[in-house]
Amino acid sequence: MPSLHAYPYNRLLAALPPAEYQRVRAQLEPRSLAFGTLLYDAGQEIRQVYFPQSALVSLLALVPGHPGLEIAMVGREGMVGSAVALGESVSTVRTVVQCSGSCLCMDADCFRAYFDEALTLHRQVLQCAQCLTLQMAETAACNHFHTIVQRLARWLLMAQDRVGADQFHLTQEFLGNMLGVRRAGVTTAAHQLKAQGLIDYSRGDIEILDTDGLMAQACSCYRKAL
Ligand SMILES: [Zn+2]
Repeated sequence: MPSLHAYPYNRLLAALPPAEYQRVRAQLEPRSLAFGTLLYDAGQEIRQVYFPQSALVSLLALVPGHPGLEIAMVGREGMVGSAVALGESVSTVRTVVQCSGSCLCMDADCFRAYFDEALTLHRQVLQCAQCLTLQMAETAACNHFHTIVQRLARWLLMAQDRVGADQFHLTQEFLGNMLGVRRAGVTTAAHQLKAQGLIDYSRGDIEILDTDGLMAQACSCYRKAL
């Protein structure tokens, strides 16, 4: 269930000094986000920003005739909608909930006001925006140079870091869309990881069994979310 406690289970908010968090907290609203919920489409106004607690959100680049390709994911380490801090009021990407879970959300205008006044929040949000830019650059290179097995291992580790759980409910078709490959390619890669005892899956439920083993399979693009 979404919660709004003294200690927020979102690392960006948790990094705020108590006085700063108390001010921000007044405008935060706990919300449950369901799988597949569209937070903003490309070209839509960003009216709210989101601080995931257990939800995982994907940023998708759109190409006509294709399902969106994932260019970044955001979970409890960051925020969704940080573009408003950089002066943008419209989303340039499609932003979709990928794993159901909780978050804290805030009106974008309120967030802008706090961003201008609260020093630690300001610094944390800029850092988050920089991390997101880096993640997009790494993902672009990863999609081009690395194998599906390496990319799937990286993807699962990134999701694990951002959700704080070892289990996800995801279809292989969905994973294929995220990775920009055909479902058959994901099936083969998942089978390989399962045969090595690194993951298990059944009817869309994927469980990570061996994080270290998965790290050994992932490409060098994987870096642990701080
Ligand atoms: Zn890679």
